[in-house]
This record gives sequence, C-alpha cells and structure tokens, in this order.
Amino acid sequence: MGLINWARKKSPWITHAHCGGCNGCDIEIAAALTPRFDIERLGCLLKNNPRYSDVLIITGPVPKHTEPMLLRIYQQTPDPKIVMAIGECAIAGGIYVEEGYDNYSIARTDNAWGADKVVPVDVYVPGCPPKPEAIIYGLSIALKKLAEKKLKAEAANTR
Ligand code: SF4
Repeated sequence: MGLINWARKKSPWITHAHCGGCNGCDIEIAAALTPRFDIERLGCLLKNNPRYSDVLIITGPVPKHTEPMLLRIYQQTPDPKIVMAIGECAIAGGIYVEEGYDNYSIARTDNAWGADKVVPVDVYVPGCPPKPEAIIYGLSIALKKLAEKKLKAEAANTR
C-alpha cells in the first residue's frame, strides 16, 4: 500500500453528483459539512473532482438528461469506489414518479427509476430528505465497504 493510499484509508474524498431533485438532499449534505455535524471530523473531504474521489454520492431522480453526466462521473471515479444514493429520489424516483406528476423534463424512457438503473449503487440512504445523521451513518457503512473493496483489490494485485 502506497503512502497516499495509507493516508487516505480512513479519509475518503467524496464527489457529489446532483442529478435533479428539489435540492432538499443537497442542503442536508451541506448541513452535514457544517460545524454542527462536521463530517470532516471523520476525515471526509468533499472534492467534487471524481478523478481523486473514493465515494460518489448521488442525489435526485436521475432524469434522462443527467444520465450521460452521471455515467461519465462514475467512469472517471477510480476503482475501488463506493456509490451512495442519497434520498428517495435517487433510490427510486421519489415524488417524481407519483401519479399525476408525469413531467416530460424528468421522464425516463424505460420508466425504471433510481440511480442504480444507471450505475451500480453500494449504499442507500432513505429519507426525503435524509437527516445529516442518516447521511453520516450511511457514510460510515460506505467506509467499511470501501475498506473491504480495497483489501480485495490489494489481494488481487499481489497474486
Ligand atoms: S428525496 Fe426529497 S428532498 Fe431529496 S431531492 Fe428528492 S424530493 Fe428533494
């Protein structure tokens, strides 16, 4: 394990992909960064540069016009990585798939909703929006999964 990887083992860098939605989840993520919740005390750093990130967090229902952007960000995030879907919209479309709210600008061609229809998702954080405490709890699960993935990748590289 290189020095940089060792130093970042418990200090993941995070990229946030906003894929539609009402911004409620984004505000809760911002709240998690404020001194009251202080997610940075866990070593987490919001970088918004997928090329250096370990964790990709997704908010919003991922309508078709954001799908190519999300795919590109996912591909730019190096392996091993963890993907988190934050909020009901990112998990399954949320309020945007409710009957009578059929808006052409957010429609998905296949009627399959949720970020995991576009990219693989490792951790789901429910809520509309989820509270900062839930986001931090989800991140703690993400860190465990990330450590497991890194161990597997290292084992595969030493064979
Ligand atoms: S889950 Fe709720 S709060 Fe979050 S983006 Fe969707 S509608 Fe807004």
